[in-house]
Amino acid sequence: MKTLVINSGSSSIKYQLFDMTDESVLCSGVIERIGEKEGVLNHKIAPDTDKAEKVSVEQPIPDHEVGMNLAIDLICGENGVVKDKSEIDAIGHRIVHGGEKFSKPTLVDENVFKELEKVVPLAPLHNPGHLAGMRVTTDLFPDVPQVVVMDTAYHQTLPEKAYMYALPYELYKEMSIRRYGFHGTSHKFVARETAKVLGKPVEECNIITVHLGNGCSMTATEKGKAVDTSMGITPLEGLVMGTRSGDVDPALHALLGRNKGMSLEEVDTLLNKESGLKGMCGMNDMRDIHAAIEEGNERAEMALAVQTYRTKKYIGSFMAVLGHVDAIVFTAGIGENDAIVRERSVEGLEALGVKIDKELNDCRASEPVKISTEDSAVELWVVPTNEELAIARDTLAVVKS
Ligand code: AMP
Repeated sequence: MKTLVINSGSSSIKYQLFDMTDESVLCSGVIERIGEKEGVLNHKIAPDTDKAEKVSVEQPIPDHEVGMNLAIDLICGENGVVKDKSEIDAIGHRIVHGGEKFSKPTLVDENVFKELEKVVPLAPLHNPGHLAGMRVTTDLFPDVPQVVVMDTAYHQTLPEKAYMYALPYELYKEMSIRRYGFHGTSHKFVARETAKVLGKPVEECNIITVHLGNGCSMTATEKGKAVDTSMGITPLEGLVMGTRSGDVDPALHALLGRNKGMSLEEVDTLLNKESGLKGMCGMNDMRDIHAAIEEGNERAEMALAVQTYRTKKYIGSFMAVLGHVDAIVFTAGIGENDAIVRERSVEGLEALGVKIDKELNDCRASEPVKISTEDSAVELWVVPTNEELAIARDTLAVVKS
């Protein structure tokens, strides 16, 4: 079964074609600057092998249709990894916000389009791009089953006490204002991969997954189901991220409006694009921050301290939520590669049964690695995430059901 996974944004489309017989990636690519003067498509054949090849196309890409057609020509053309479009068996779409309607991956039909349109006000930066990509692929592949896999779906099992904001109830009823959580595909995948290395069914595991990438979030999974998460109605709440603030006092908008004359739009941009690590020290890549700390940059040290302190606070609160915890698991760009961030995120938690082994922790993981001491009551792991593979697996499961 060949499954194409698509992540269609407002001005970019990322794709990967999997051969699901062995879950290998046949090709992958990124189309960027859709709608701008000059667009670009970078296509890779067999990207994870030593036979990897790269093809770049630079030309105006006015819309998603032109971009997707360019990619399809490379995937299915004369030199493509498949010889014909008909060899693609299923298509999976990553959707950031599924609102309250979608609690599981779902086969695309007209009703799915309508429901996702309704959610646009909750994710105005993401969902229109997803819908544009879905329209193009349903036109190009009318006979191929297409599945939407929502970042919010995994967290639809949160209990009311975890997802409700303490706001007038009418706002929930009228506008669906509640916490949704994001990175769900990653948290679900990593929790399941962790259960495998723990040697137990996920339904018997309590796991805290700590996704630290450019975006950062944490989820508490109890007996296989998400019961709390750090992100909220948007992916801004919670942990400190590359350019996003995470938790701030909700009075901040009013304060900046009154005292600095900032509009709501300006505060929104400030919190999403100019805050987080970048806001504190001018850098949002953790590798640059470590290099700057080495050179004595105090603001870089402060940014690292604020980020890891916030992560530790959330770990502590999710330990309280779960009571018993089998494993705390780090994943994504920072979580998989950064021993210092991992160590600082759990330092001082020994009394809660969390003991990191500094030698084991000194790793960059492409496979699951245990990083806790033998006598740690809670196991610590690094487990690589793979959201595209997770979407491909979910897509196949829906198509086969
Ligand atoms: P992601 O969003 O999961 O792709 O993660 C991207 C982020 O991971 C980058 O912005 C970096 O901050 C971080 N990152 C990637 N590689 C490393 C590394 N070797 N050490 C520390 N941080 C890394």
